[in-house]
Amino acid sequence: MQGDVLTVRTHHLMCVLRGAVTGSHYPTLMPLLEEIRANPNRQIRVVIGPDDICLPCPHWDGTKCNCKPGMEEKNQKKDAAFLKTLDIKEGEMFNARQLYDIIGERITLADMRNICPTCKPDECYPAAKDPSAIFGED
Ligand code: SF4
Ligand code: SF4
Repeated sequence: MQGDVLTVRTHHLMCVLRGAVTGSHYPTLMPLLEEIRANPNRQIRVVIGPDDICLPCPHWDGTKCNCKPGMEEKNQKKDAAFLKTLDIKEGEMFNARQLYDIIGERITLADMRNICPTCKPDECYPAAKDPSAIFGED
């Protein structure tokens, strides 16, 4: 995760919230959380598709996420749905703290359940509404 700007696919921004509460077995998600925690002013470019944590991930096969069959397509659909719900344009940049404030203001539990019906949206939602889950109390 070198460089001035972190590129992060939208659904990873959201999954990091659950990682902040429960931890994560995905190998590159917790390093992303630690990076954001340590550097709340770090610039993040929000994208649909591969990002700075996919490229070093063992599930990245060089062209797509190979975690499970069809996963890259599902992930991109999820990225796009979160982007639309959050009213962010692909490629927009924010610092990490601003971005999680926006998520906290705009996401609803209904959105989370709609976008992530087969995962655990109810576990992510409280952290999504409370940026201190990532950054601690001011
Ligand atoms: S519910 Fe959605 S945002 Fe939360 S961990 Fe699952 S896929 Fe990620
Ligand atoms: S390759 Fe798949 S599992 Fe790995 S970070 Fe990217 S989307 Fe997540």
